[in-house]
Amino acid sequence: MHKQKIAIVTGGGSGIGLAIAEKFIREDIHTIIVGRDAGKLGAAAEKLGALCQAITFDLNNFAEIPALVSRIIDQHGKIDILVNNAGINMKKAFTEVTDGDFQSILQTNVTAVFVLSREVVKSMLQNGVKGSIINISSMASRYGIPKVIAYTAAKSAIEGMTRAMATELSPEGIRINCIAPGFIATDMSAKALDSDPERKAKALGRTPMGALGQPSDIGDAAAFLASDAAKYITGVVLPVDGGNAIGF
Ligand code: NAP
Repeated sequence: MHKQKIAIVTGGGSGIGLAIAEKFIREDIHTIIVGRDAGKLGAAAEKLGALCQAITFDLNNFAEIPALVSRIIDQHGKIDILVNNAGINMKKAFTEVTDGDFQSILQTNVTAVFVLSREVVKSMLQNGVKGSIINISSMASRYGIPKVIAYTAAKSAIEGMTRAMATELSPEGIRINCIAPGFIATDMSAKALDSDPERKAKALGRTPMGALGQPSDIGDAAAFLASDAAKYITGVVLPVDGGNAIGF
């Protein structure tokens, strides 16, 4: 088995995923970034250098996920780390969210995470890899944020799945953890906050550190959870939020 670790970071072409990929590469981990936008991924891969590999893939395409994972295994022999970072948000009043809206958020943010994790875990079991999976939830799973009903349902599901998987897979030596980012400066949060100064003021007002986080703050936490330094840590949800979750 190769010594070099192999990681998949979904949504690794932008924002938090890009910062996680950057940090992994600095730690000499071969990092495969997955997203739908080939241009964005290509630019990220160019920036990140030879240890980065970009795969254009829409994670809503569940039927093709087993083939995606097989392709990676054929090429690299194993997968050590999976970061389920890809996600979409939708801000809409509760009564205006259609069945289709709700399903589409759940599809990307929950079902795709399940399908990809299942396939990656199968590969870890087959190859005897004591792997690490990191899910990305949100403050939306910790307290009630208005106008993000589907996103909140999805991110709450991610935290429950983290605990269920951690218990079931611990005997196999596979660790599952979750990071709950607070308000981090990315395109996604800019869309949600810049158009809504009241929400931005509220988010910052209850963040004791008084500022948005940087994507690299999540990258550092992910690198820790993926590393042997966290070898006795599984099933946790780690807020990386400048104290947002406990702010008064
Ligand atoms: P972002 O820049 O919009 O990143 C989301 C990524 O997901 C994009 O790179 C996107 O790539 C990818 N993606 C979305 N749908 C996909 C699909 N169907 N298939 C493959 N890739 C897909 O936003 P971000 O802020 O970095 O968010 C990253 C994660 O952190 C998300 O799970 C988000 O919910 C979570 N989060 C963010 C914050 C924050 O304050 N920013 C707070 C809490 C949680 P393509 O467009 O190329 O598909």
